[in-house]
Amino acid sequence: MLDYHVHSTFSPDGEMTMEEACRQAVSLELKEIAVTDHMDIDLPDNEKAFQIKDMNQYISELERIREDFKGRLKVKKGIEIGLQDWTLEMAADLTVKYPFDFVIASVHLVNGEDPYFRTYFHTRDKIKSYTDYYHTILDLLKDYDNFNVLGHLDYFRRYSPYEYKPQDYRIGLDLTEAILRLLVQKGKGIELNTAGFRHSSNQPHPHPEVLKWFRELGGEIVTIGSDAHNAAFIGYEYKRAVECLKYAGFDYVAAFSEMKPEFIRI
Ligand SMILES: [Zn+2]
Ligand SMILES: [Zn+2]
Repeated sequence: MLDYHVHSTFSPDGEMTMEEACRQAVSLELKEIAVTDHMDIDLPDNEKAFQIKDMNQYISELERIREDFKGRLKVKKGIEIGLQDWTLEMAADLTVKYPFDFVIASVHLVNGEDPYFRTYFHTRDKIKSYTDYYHTILDLLKDYDNFNVLGHLDYFRRYSPYEYKPQDYRIGLDLTEAILRLLVQKGKGIELNTAGFRHSSNQPHPHPEVLKWFRELGGEIVTIGSDAHNAAFIGYEYKRAVECLKYAGFDYVAAFSEMKPEFIRI
């Protein structure tokens, strides 16, 4: 199996080195991982900005690790780019300038507010907490193409103070559908992020029904990622992830080299 969403100590909140991540992946008999550290382009004086400080060092460390693990584990050079409306051009430039295998486009901020800092929910009721986030994704993706998959479609839900109900994936349904259609139209994919299983919902990001819609709308590219920030979560619940994907109508996952997908049977 593969884990296509892993954070190392190159992310400010990463708690394992790339080497530790790879050793854990080998011990779990994973075939492949993509290290996808945070790159949220932001104001230079924003101390909360999640950024790789030295991109050249990041790439060269990934290349070194890839050589070290050759024959035992495939290691892909990934990145999780956090999008905002005024950083799209910089984000695109970055993906061209550096030789990435795989780019996750993620939305962590809605008008500069991260749901992680719970104030996001102070001014939004449950429905608006969904629709504002989905609106932001939709607006950003209309103007952005330099990525392979959309990260954790319902990220904000991790931090929501509102009680989770099984039908919540239907909130903002028209917006979700528009996002899925846009991804299909652009030939892009979506990730199944297993960090959602850690939430009280016990569902991945996004809900398996949403993955099923994506498939029905013609979506072909899907990756599985744990969003692990420490070794304990590498490959987290990937067997359940595979079951969800099969339920959604997929019989393969995507892996990427130099931004091009190949499909691996599950
Ligand atoms: Zn993220
Ligand atoms: Zn992440």
